[in-house]
Amino acid sequence: MSAQFDQIATRILEGGPDSGATEADALAVLRADDSELMSLVAAASRLRREYFGNTVKVNYLVNLKSGLCPENCNYCSQALGSQAPILKYSWLSKDETLKQAGAGLAGGATRVCMVSSGRGPSDRDIDKVTEMTEALKSEYPDVEVCACLGLLKDGQAERLKSSGVDAYNHNINTAESHHDTIVQTHTYDDRVETIGKAKSAGLSPCSGLIAGLGETDEQLVEALFALKKLDADSIPVNFLMPFDGTPFEDTWELTPGRCLRILAMARFVCPDKEVRIAGGREMHLRSLQAMALQVANSIFLGDYLTSEGQEAKADIEMIRDNGFVILGAEDAFEDGSPVVEPVETPDPAIRHRGAGTEVPANA
Ligand code: SF4
Repeated sequence: MSAQFDQIATRILEGGPDSGATEADALAVLRADDSELMSLVAAASRLRREYFGNTVKVNYLVNLKSGLCPENCNYCSQALGSQAPILKYSWLSKDETLKQAGAGLAGGATRVCMVSSGRGPSDRDIDKVTEMTEALKSEYPDVEVCACLGLLKDGQAERLKSSGVDAYNHNINTAESHHDTIVQTHTYDDRVETIGKAKSAGLSPCSGLIAGLGETDEQLVEALFALKKLDADSIPVNFLMPFDGTPFEDTWELTPGRCLRILAMARFVCPDKEVRIAGGREMHLRSLQAMALQVANSIFLGDYLTSEGQEAKADIEMIRDNGFVILGAEDAFEDGSPVVEPVETPDPAIRHRGAGTEVPANA
């Protein structure tokens, strides 16, 4: 049975990326038995290495405007009605944006994702983002800039593009057949239309999903095939973070193995696309984070929009410890030197608890 995944990988490698997995293959990946997990990862890793070698793309989020959103996406801590105790603020200044982006770039990121909450940007919001982008590109000429500002109106994508923005993120989030159960203030078609506007303006389309929203296996497959059809260059795969104060606060549908299967399915369906492990990585993949890098080829460094991720240094160490290099900083690792200094080499901690002591055991 486990040879099945290797055979699918071989078929895709021989047929080229457009051959991809079939919907039946994708369902089989999602339903792989625990005993097949290692062979599934090994097969997906053949595709990952074919198209991305041992590189990991490192992205850094800057939340330009947080909370206060009039939309009702019920997974989102920034949505209308959310009681999640998140930071809420209006637009960051250009200087503050540069400072925040600079921290991510110094930490090893090569792409800065500038995000704002809200239904979509006004033309004055676009003015702000174009100014920020020009300033960012002038200070860091190699930086890749992705904007994520919501639904776009005609002409806005072109303005972003001419200021130097490289990519536009707008997630479809879930299958069309599930969309209306998670948000009612805009439609699935609205989302698809914005991705089309970004693409027509020459921005690299970035669109992904959130798993764990009550969708079925078939709907996850439906969402991935929709992303394939949209020809998204990068696919962020988020795992629902059930914030207190949101309708999904008690929803826990994911296990580390399930997350790994979802990432593997994304790799099989879109073998040559950037598959990014996005929000919820630490919470849901837990000890399988490093294994997920064998399948996905991109992560966010450090924190997310409204929640904290693991230490950025731990992200970089995980990449290096597993034999990967940061895309754009390959040389930094060839001589063994990391992009950022690793956490100090720890000395073995002498035990002062458990047997032979009065202190409770570490159990
Ligand atoms: S539009 Fe964006 S910020 Fe607003 S609720 Fe939806 S996901 Fe959250």
